[in-house]
Amino acid sequence: MDARLSAKFPFLKEALEFAEENSADLESLLTSENFSPARARGRERVLDAIASGEVVYKPLMRDYDCLMEVMSYPYARMLVSVIWDRYLTKRYALGEAVRMNKVLSGEDHRTMIKVSDEMGFHAETDPDGTMRMGFPDYLMLSSRMKSIDWKLINSDVRAGMVVLPGDKFNRLMQNALQYKIESELPLKPPEEFLQYLEKDAAAVKMALDEAKAKMSPTRGEGMKDAYLPPCVKHLLELSMKGINLPHSGRFALVTFLSALGLDYDAIIRIFAESPDFDESKSEYQIKHITGELNGTDPYTPPECKTMKTNGLCHEPDALCEHVNHPLNYYRIKSGARRPKDGGEGRSRRRPSLLRFLQVIIALWTAVRFPTTANQIIMTSIQLMSNPAISKDPYPSADATYWIIGNNVDRTTLSARPSRPAYRRGAPMAWAWVPMYEVSRTPTRATIPK
Ligand code: SF4
Repeated sequence: MDARLSAKFPFLKEALEFAEENSADLESLLTSENFSPARARGRERVLDAIASGEVVYKPLMRDYDCLMEVMSYPYARMLVSVIWDRYLTKRYALGEAVRMNKVLSGEDHRTMIKVSDEMGFHAETDPDGTMRMGFPDYLMLSSRMKSIDWKLINSDVRAGMVVLPGDKFNRLMQNALQYKIESELPLKPPEEFLQYLEKDAAAVKMALDEAKAKMSPTRGEGMKDAYLPPCVKHLLELSMKGINLPHSGRFALVTFLSALGLDYDAIIRIFAESPDFDESKSEYQIKHITGELNGTDPYTPPECKTMKTNGLCHEPDALCEHVNHPLNYYRIKSGARRPKDGGEGRSRRRPSLLRFLQVIIALWTAVRFPTTANQIIMTSIQLMSNPAISKDPYPSADATYWIIGNNVDRTTLSARPSRPAYRRGAPMAWAWVPMYEVSRTPTRATIPK
């Protein structure tokens, strides 16, 4: 067996045979001192994946190092399985897949075909070295790719085979390995193994919790009402008052609160105020939406465009003009992110050359034309003392805002250019539409009532 090939692709049959040849079994992996480098590397694999979404590849020369690399792979998989966290599984799958993509780019076509075959995707190579793959396989593996370059219509298809340059082929193999690991894990490790995995699993769990807290819109600090967007505040108010929300409103609220890290108990308490509250029904719906029921990914909250279509965008404020998603509103307001186009983040920007020039010109005007400067200062004071104009803390460059002033009905503004249909209650039939929009897989297209 080729030790280096096994180390590069530890998920191949060849790697298993290499381990067997060297009498490396799981029990020795977990208990023997000889395998402590493999355990350390296994933990590193998972930690790399959490930290950067990529398991770092290290070229190895000695057979012993290759064996440790091969055995680190099952150890990493055991750690991921013990923790049993969907995000971790996906992150780890991505990390291993990205690593394989990089390794594969330095390999010959024979190896590329071998890897592809073992993952269940038939590929061929042309005499000129280009790769070819059957179009059904291509469609399946490229379904996650959003770029227009990956559309079948933009590909070179000959006799049912898609012709692929090496880098594109490797990218598809990355997806194949990602699917494979995601579908395989978590596995249930035997009870007697758990004690050996405990320590490393605790270290991984800690790193995972930290990474999740950093990624969360609340940065692990819990939800703060002050940062909630107007639409969500309104939905919460209605719910607390015992007013029935439309299905689309419930969906938006559950997905939003779940994205902020609220657990099932916290969410159900909000819905308990509804007049038609039925705990078993609500439990089913909430757990379905948050993915708890089937162990699937949670649904993502609808973006502003969908909220407007469903009549759920309520009295948007000035910050709303700088966001396209209610979660981004929360992130910006809490200081976790800056708006891309100015907005609230402007005040935190470093002074630019333009600002410096503005100050110089203002000083020059004050010295050269004192009367004009005086008028400008007086006008500014008047504007600042007018609460109707100055109360909005998010200055906008929108001409409409400056002409009409702060009395403008922002709800109407946010509807442009379409008619403000969202102000009416969403009819039941199309209240479901966004659920189809957010769904990527047909099996999740419906939500039980
Ligand atoms: S613009 Fe977006 S964030 Fe603001 S209220 Fe409307 S839906 Fe909510």
